[in-house]
Amino acid sequence: MAPTPRPGILDIEPYVGGEASLPGFDRPARLASNENALGPSDKARQAYLQMADDLPRYPDGSASALRAAIASAHGLDADRIVCGAGSDELIALLVRAYAGPGDEVLYSRHGFLMYPIAATTAGATPVAAPETTELKADVDALLARVTERTKLVFLANPNNPTGTYLDKAELERLHNGLPEGTLLVIDAAYAEYVDEPAYSPGADLVDAGGQVVMTRTFSKIHALAALRLGWLYGPREVVDVMNRVRGPFNVAKPALAAGEAAVLDREHVARSLEHNNRWRDWFRQQVGGAGLEVLPSAANFVLVRFADPEMAEAAVAHCKRHGVLTRQMAKYGLPDCLRVSIGAEWEMRQAADVFAEFARQQGLGGAEHTA
Ligand SMILES: *Cc1c(COP(=O)(O)O)cnc(C)c1O
Repeated sequence: MAPTPRPGILDIEPYVGGEASLPGFDRPARLASNENALGPSDKARQAYLQMADDLPRYPDGSASALRAAIASAHGLDADRIVCGAGSDELIALLVRAYAGPGDEVLYSRHGFLMYPIAATTAGATPVAAPETTELKADVDALLARVTERTKLVFLANPNNPTGTYLDKAELERLHNGLPEGTLLVIDAAYAEYVDEPAYSPGADLVDAGGQVVMTRTFSKIHALAALRLGWLYGPREVVDVMNRVRGPFNVAKPALAAGEAAVLDREHVARSLEHNNRWRDWFRQQVGGAGLEVLPSAANFVLVRFADPEMAEAAVAHCKRHGVLTRQMAKYGLPDCLRVSIGAEWEMRQAADVFAEFARQQGLGGAEHTA
């Protein structure tokens, strides 16, 4: 008889990433995984290549050069940064360190799937709070679900897949409403894309001495998803805990080197931001003008919402037949929505054409509709 895993493990549905290939298409438009189509900073690429001569040696387990670079780029205290193999690793370690059987991990209904997966893996109970009708995290609904067993509250800000965010004041209200023993984790994977004055990634809440952690990633605007690199910024006590539970060499040497170069290349970050926001606005206008509903987004993707799940499914299939990979959001409780990442110009033009054609086929009115 096979060994039995702990209770709950076999209830987990494995996370399935976005599709990356499409039979019959050499070069499909890959808009299913929120990657940065411009690619990484050339300096990051060079730093990565240089590591080819240094493969027999262990990486610096304290990631000190990378932490110093992050601290200088973001104006933070390097001693309160912890690096991880993607922010996924840090999310899993936070849950494992702070929650177990009998504890609750609270998140927002359409929040990132890794939160309930990490909670269940640790034997804790994931608790979902409903969102507003605009698919935004609802501070009151979250606070109403906090109990003495709530160890962690996860908030992706902006959230994937909805693209909505809480502004600084709302974030503070959420934080102030939590009891002492509850840790707020602000997952700011898409922070660099937000150009709204009322938005804050959350480092200021950490610096103000709260029970708050901010997580960040190199997978999105820095375009280093393949290397698996993320980091967190938190209170000293949390940093100490994370340094106990993480693997001693949890970040690979090429990732450390590439990440250091990437975070210091502010010009490349600015270029990626400019490209994203320009084509995000263009795509919303085109597809909205074709008669489809495209929700507002502060990140590097948008949601297209259809009349029902069947129509969303038909749209995914139509996109695939025309070489465009998107993602239906049923696992996030949004079966009537497709998420479309902002890619290269040719990908956005192709996707806009394909959606417009679908709208015509469905008899959805177009011309006089404005986004
Ligand atoms: C993409 C994404 C991440 C990044 O995960 P990595 O493990 O760093 O690649 C984290 N949180 C959210 C909400 C995301 O969408």
